[in-house]
Amino acid sequence: MGYYEFLLRGAGESCDAITNMLAELGCLGTFERDGLLVAFFRDGRDVAEIRDSLAGFRSVLRESGLDAGYSFDYHYLSERDWNESWKRRFEPVDVGESLAIVPPWKRDKDGRISIIIDPGMAFGTGHHETTRTCLGLIERISRTCRRERFLDVGTGTGILAIGAARLGFSRVTAVDIDPLATDAALRNASLNGLSGIEVFEGTIDDAEGPFDLIAANLIAGTLIRLAHSIALHLDVKGTAVLSGMLAGQEDAVISAFAAEGVLLEERIEDGRWVSLVLRR
Ligand code: SAH
Repeated sequence: MGYYEFLLRGAGESCDAITNMLAELGCLGTFERDGLLVAFFRDGRDVAEIRDSLAGFRSVLRESGLDAGYSFDYHYLSERDWNESWKRRFEPVDVGESLAIVPPWKRDKDGRISIIIDPGMAFGTGHHETTRTCLGLIERISRTCRRERFLDVGTGTGILAIGAARLGFSRVTAVDIDPLATDAALRNASLNGLSGIEVFEGTIDDAEGPFDLIAANLIAGTLIRLAHSIALHLDVKGTAVLSGMLAGQEDAVISAFAAEGVLLEERIEDGRWVSLVLRR
């Protein structure tokens, strides 16, 4: 099993929108290198579909008044080349006041609570702004909320769920519709010595609430679609951390949650991404 590496030139101001679209197509991760946007896919994915989506996305960008003048190419990487490519990139990242995301071959970061993540299999290595913002918010909220039941909707590598468990939540549940993600989350949970995290393939409707804190780092459309279920699974004193929206998309998400009685408390913008803290 290998990977496809897509290289995009001239993505410029449209980088975030393209990254978001690629994530929806099942992209494992992206980063920027020498002015290129680099994106990885497992070779099980239909490469023609990715190619067509990237070509077709130009008209979506143009309609939104964004720069669509990018070009791209791609090539196949063997498992070994891909690992080497990631390893070179994957340095520990400090998050918030007390956390650090570290790869398995580094493990400990002095004085910080380590979240060990093997970037091998799913989105959520901590190099994306939305993941870091979510983790920072979870850390801050955990200081004042009841640290019992935590739900991570769309867990990817398991990073937010593992962070919550390391911060002291006693019952942590993680769901994802992608079996590659749940495999990765289980493997990462075990790398962190956290056998108690409940990870399963499915949607929020399969999780048994209520939860004190729910994190969902998804895209705007999915957050809106899940507003009712997230509200249903939130404890009366619970908090929701939502992320993954592009700036400008958050009002529709805020309205969908307000209609469910879950109201905005805080809005954080980093880069072109927005994260929200909401409470009943
Ligand atoms: N929580 C991680 C990963 C976010 S990527 C982080 O913060 O970095 C989003 C993940 O949500 C992907 O793994 C995708 O498979 C999953 N996903 C998308 N729609 C979903 C849905 N309706 N229910 C559950 N998971 C979903």
